[in-house]
Order: sequence, then C-alpha cells, then structure tokens
Amino acid sequence: MSNVKNPPAWLGVMGGGQLGRMFAHAAQSMGYNVAVLEPAADCPAGQAANRLINAGYNDAAGLDALAAQCVAVTTEFENVPADSLSRLAQSVFVAPNAHGVSVAQDRIAEKSFFVASAAKSGVMPAPHKVIATDADIDAISEDLLPGILKTVRMGYDGKGQVRVKSRDDVRAAFDGMGQVTCLLEKMLPLAYEVSVLTARGADGASVVYPIAENVHRDGILFTTTVPGPNITGDCAAKAQAAAKAIVAELGYVGVLCIEFFVLADGSLVVNEMAPRPHNSGHYTIDACVTSQFAQQVRAMAGLPLGDVRQHSPAVMLNILGDIWYEGDDVREPAWDQVLALPGANLHLYGKEEPRRARKMGHLTFVAPTLAEAQQHLHAACAVLGIEA
Ligand code: ATP
Ligand code: MG
Repeated sequence: MSNVKNPPAWLGVMGGGQLGRMFAHAAQSMGYNVAVLEPAADCPAGQAANRLINAGYNDAAGLDALAAQCVAVTTEFENVPADSLSRLAQSVFVAPNAHGVSVAQDRIAEKSFFVASAAKSGVMPAPHKVIATDADIDAISEDLLPGILKTVRMGYDGKGQVRVKSRDDVRAAFDGMGQVTCLLEKMLPLAYEVSVLTARGADGASVVYPIAENVHRDGILFTTTVPGPNITGDCAAKAQAAAKAIVAELGYVGVLCIEFFVLADGSLVVNEMAPRPHNSGHYTIDACVTSQFAQQVRAMAGLPLGDVRQHSPAVMLNILGDIWYEGDDVREPAWDQVLALPGANLHLYGKEEPRRARKMGHLTFVAPTLAEAQQHLHAACAVLGIEA
C-alpha cells in the first residue's frame, strides 16, 4: 500500500503564524491545497491558506473539520496541544505525532530525552535541575550557579527565562513566575551557537542541512549565517551525527531543528529542539535546493525527501517591528533601498501591526561568497537603522 499523498490533496496545519504561511506557499507551489486551523481571524498563514478554520487549538469541531478535509496534518508551533494531535491522528495522518511534539514542548521531558539518548547522539544537555518547590531551591548545588531559570513550558524568544546568580535570585525569579515548574540550567560559556535542521520521512530516511550559526540579540534570533564562520569540520560532523541519532531515537516524521551550544573548548552541548521548521532555517528558502517548508510537505505527504544542498552562501536577518518606528512615528521601512542591494530576498509575514520585538519578516542575502552576502546585509542594516 502506498502512503504517498499526491497533489491536489489538502494538507492541514495547526497554527496560523509565519511558519504556517511559508508552509502554505511551499505546499501550494507543489499543487496542494492548504487548510489552517487558528483562532485568530487575520493571521499570516490564514492569508495564504485555501481555507482558514477559525477555531481554538482544542476545539473538537474545528479539529474534526480539519481532519475531514485533509489527508495529512502538521504543526507550525511547538505548543500545539498534544491531545489535539492525538485526536486528529484517529482519522488522519499526523506528522510530527503527539509524542515528538510533547517531548519538545516540555523542557523536562526534552532534557530527559537528551540524557537518555546521549549514548547514541554523543551529546549532553547543560547541567540542570527541576525547580518545582522551595525545597528544590534549598537543594540547588552551587555548581549550577550562575544559571538561567526557564519555565518548563511555553518559553520562546527568551520569554519565561531569568538569569540568576544566587539561591536568593532563584527564589525571587521562581516567585516572580508564579511558582510554575521551572528548570534551572547552569550558565555555560558559549563560544557560539549552531542549529541543525533535519527531516525524517515515514520510511526512516533522514537528511541534515548544512550547520547554521546563530546570533541572538535580547533573547531573539538576530542573524543566521550559513556556512557558519566559526564552525569547524569536526563540530559540523558531530552535530550532524547527533541530529541523525536524535530524530531516529524519537521515531520522528517531519522537520525538526535542534539548537546546540559550542563551548570555548569546542565541545558541543544540546540545548533544545523545535518540532517544526525553524527561524534559523529560513535561509533554505533562498539558498538551498529544497526549502525547509518544501521538506515539511514532502515528509508529511510520504514523498521522497528533497536535496538539502546549499547552492549559495547566505545570511538571514530577522526583521522586528522596531524598525517601523522613528521616535513615535510609524512608517514603512525603505524596502526599495534594501531590494536594490544584490542578493536581497525580502519575506514579510503580512502582520498588520508592527509591534516592538515582534517578528514581522526576514531578509536573506545570498551571494557567490559569504563575505559579499555579509557586506550586503550590513548595507541593509544601515538602511533599516539596525546596528549591524
Ligand atoms: P527560542 O525559542 O527563541 O529558541 P527559548 O526562549 O526557547 O528560545 P533557549 O533557546 O533555551 O530559549 O535560550 C535562548 C538563548 O539564551 C540561547 O540561544 C542562548 O543564547 C541563551 N542560553 C540559554 N541557555 C543557556 C545556558 N545554559 N548557558 C548559556 N546561555 C544560554
Ligand atoms: Mg532556543
């Protein structure tokens, strides 16, 4: 029996954000129809989809409508309720499944999984401890400090994180977060950060994209550079092998991105994973044979995975709402000047309101050499008023 789902079948996506929008574009370009389930009436993915089902992520009628319309369903955000994926899976193929998503959306389950798979992946997470009660704080060992206290669920873009130096800091931060269960992680001396984008098909075949180097600013991804200027061959090989082991251990189907820290001594520490395409993988749209979104389509539709080869060096810059503001005035950035630069690819997500720190879009520069791509990105930063 073939599990291939050919176009023009309907593919479904849970969530209406920019990742769903770019998924819809990729799926439609291959001839599929796309249905999005999202409570917000105007959303980036809904603008692109063939059908928007306006319903809560837990809404039974909405989920049943999505399942009835589609031959396969995926997700574009990691906090999708695992129960909803299980409900969908009773009547439609769901990739990734509830198991993979539930591990990735809970920092305790995720860390335990990384520890349990370390023998196969060759990488360990940062030293950490669960903080659920005041007694847990009393029992913190000194070598976990200074550290970062992270909420176990719902963290993204550095939200739900507090840097702590002492036991008293931990107590204050834990109270400040309403005593929800947290994880205290030892603060590691990072040399740089990388992410490894991988995809695995239902047949067990997997692919790994070139290793991306990421720079964060204020807890939000600022740039992704591929090939990463600091990544050694040895580090790339280890990260690649770790990613392959991790998706296989999870029995995962779909696109998964794993974030790693690289320490000063060159050692690799696994940070977290996202059960979907990732911001650091946006460069694949303009610089790789198969984009991460086209890969997501292929994995869920039972098609062969696509070529991950990168044909141009690339630098991706996130566009946050801040650049719409000049003092208190709101105006559109000078896209004409940015697009006059060689190798510029502009992606805007159709968000109505440019709030500060809100991801409004991204820019990817491709060029024959990385130095040229970086030079044009710097020029774009100057146009947009972003400190490069
Ligand atoms: P996102 O969803 O944007 O990836 P997040 O809010 O889930 O982020 P993390 O990825 O855990 O949070 O952390 C955000 C950033 O904080 C990391 O990319 C890294 O720069 C820094 N960071 C996190 N944990 C540590 C650590 N143990 N030691 C040093 N730096 C850390
Ligand atoms: Mg992260």
